[in-house]
Amino acid sequence: MAAPASKPVPVPTRETQPYWEGCKQHELRIQKCPACGHHQFYPRLYCTACMSDRVEWVKASGRGKVLSFTIVYRPVTQAFAADVPYVVALITLDEGPQLMSNVVGCPPEKVQIGMPVEVTFEDWTEDISVPKFKPV
Ligand SMILES: [Zn+2]
Repeated sequence: MAAPASKPVPVPTRETQPYWEGCKQHELRIQKCPACGHHQFYPRLYCTACMSDRVEWVKASGRGKVLSFTIVYRPVTQAFAADVPYVVALITLDEGPQLMSNVVGCPPEKVQIGMPVEVTFEDWTEDISVPKFKPV
């Protein structure tokens, strides 16, 4: 299989469309359950805490902390060759949910577990913007 020459661009689904619409507006959206107050990410059709099917989309603070990370030195495909070294991190949002992203805006060796970060967006196409995190 030939390596892709360009990065794979996310394709919104019915469940993820509100998330990607928020990203396009540079707004990080997660789901909140009006029945029990639980926040969750990734998008689901029901609340993972109480099984309610009335989850709503809310704007997240965009702030969180690095839970764990790795530094990628070897690109998985040529499409990522210009980016190495880069940081892949698990971010715990202030609202509780965790998401995987990149930490940008500082040298990879400066990233630390527990480091406070905030969301920033990279516009990949006219419709798709991708959330990344930078040091606060
Ligand atoms: Zn709930």
